[in-house]
Amino acid sequence: MDYEKNQTLTVEITDMTSEGEGVGKKDGFPFFVKDTIIGDKAEIRVTRVKKSYAYGRLEKVLTPSPFRVEPKCTFHRQCGGCQIQSMSYEKQLEFKQAKVRNNLIRIGGFASEKIDKIMEPIVGMEEPFYYRNKAQYPVGTNREGEPITGFYAGRTHSIVANTQCYLGTNENKEILEIILAYMKENKVSAYDETTGKGLIRHVLIRKGFCSGEIMVCLVVNLKGKQRELPAQQKLLDRLLTIPNMTSVSLNINTERTNVILGQEIRLIWGKETIQDTIHVCDADNNFERTGRGITYAISPVSFYQVNPAQTEKLYSLALSYAGLTGQETVWDLYCGIGTISLFLAEKAKRVYGVEVIPQAVENARENAVSNGITNAEFFVGKAEEVLPQKYEKEGIFADVIVVDPPRKGCDNACLDTILKMAPKRVVYVSCDSATLARDLKVLCGGGYEVERVRAVDMFPMTVGVETVVFLSNRKSKPDTHVKLSLSMDDYYRIKEEGKNNQI
Ligand code: SAH
Repeated sequence: MDYEKNQTLTVEITDMTSEGEGVGKKDGFPFFVKDTIIGDKAEIRVTRVKKSYAYGRLEKVLTPSPFRVEPKCTFHRQCGGCQIQSMSYEKQLEFKQAKVRNNLIRIGGFASEKIDKIMEPIVGMEEPFYYRNKAQYPVGTNREGEPITGFYAGRTHSIVANTQCYLGTNENKEILEIILAYMKENKVSAYDETTGKGLIRHVLIRKGFCSGEIMVCLVVNLKGKQRELPAQQKLLDRLLTIPNMTSVSLNINTERTNVILGQEIRLIWGKETIQDTIHVCDADNNFERTGRGITYAISPVSFYQVNPAQTEKLYSLALSYAGLTGQETVWDLYCGIGTISLFLAEKAKRVYGVEVIPQAVENARENAVSNGITNAEFFVGKAEEVLPQKYEKEGIFADVIVVDPPRKGCDNACLDTILKMAPKRVVYVSCDSATLARDLKVLCGGGYEVERVRAVDMFPMTVGVETVVFLSNRKSKPDTHVKLSLSMDDYYRIKEEGKNNQI
């Protein structure tokens, strides 16, 4: 049977894609329908027909799925940030567990029996809302000419006004309303992407969940000699009524671009950074906090995990999988501001971090110093360049390698070098289980065995899922490399001296 655009149909949703769209079949022909949940019977309108599948829009839920719940947010369909908010949280966790499992089997080529034996249950949240410590709101103007802030309607750049996102903290709404009131009263304009005119572009809010400290950064199109906002003190006076306000800054972005942040940050009140602490927990005992916390300084531009409650669990799992006794040399690739590295440092002999963004490496070094950690060193560069270079030229050694790459996974040159270095353990932290599965296949082809897998729900209500994997070296090669118990600096010096001695 042929289907046509705009036709309405009744379908039963019997499956879901990894991106959270419901899948319903009509005589074997699949329809992908956003906002439906497995188990729904729904009326849909056909939006696009392809040769072997079609897309539909949910018109009406006829019989709700037993997994359907009333979403908290009235904008969830327009926004698209929370793809599965109308699914019960228990089912969301099941969905994510299945997503990781399927990727490991289908892309990684692992036997389902093996995965079912080693995969532990996903780590969920007790309260799956209000978990984000960072919010970025675009600012614009409505038809009446008033400033608004909210979110971009799915795949567009038009702003839907909404100051209450249930993933963020309670203070966000109050802060946004203060800024909007200030703009109205002082006739401060919102930036207009189409003309490049107007002043306020975005509001960035961060909170240290442990310290309670709050940071507000207004991204502004301040040009030329203009150093501050009109009636800036009035804005500050109001922002300072928010308890624990710690840092207020302007980020100058005068470029015609969708990139949110510009280069320059001008502090207008308080401290340049806020602090947050992540505690070491016992991953094998219900994530009870055991160790001391590591405190990180966070600036408006720092990369920092957005869900601190779950980050603590994720890092503790990575630490547990690393199996450290205090004797190990560990490389932490894609280390960001050194969050995992500093976690590992307490239990390792030495930790070396590699990260491509120089500013993040600077933060990592500062965080090491402020936490009194002296056995961690950081290198700027691409993991796939730094690691092979250091291995080939300097014969570096690792007992354990931890990787936490971006969505695209590890570069082949990086995986190759890991195989050559042959550490006893590899811990892979991944935010995309498809590229994780692809990379695990390479590592297992090169002599590693997947021992443990556990998913962590860092982003409830969305389809995102983080996974931690522990691989052991099947061959466990004898130690033929130089074992680094010295700092890299000392190591280079001794090598240099060695060379001179030979001459
Ligand atoms: N482990 C950190 C950061 C993980 S995000 C944490 O949990 O906070 C991934 C990091 O990899 C980012 O900081 C990104 O800048 C960095 N990155 C991206 N490509 C890279 C590459 N080729 N080599 C090294 N680092 C890279």
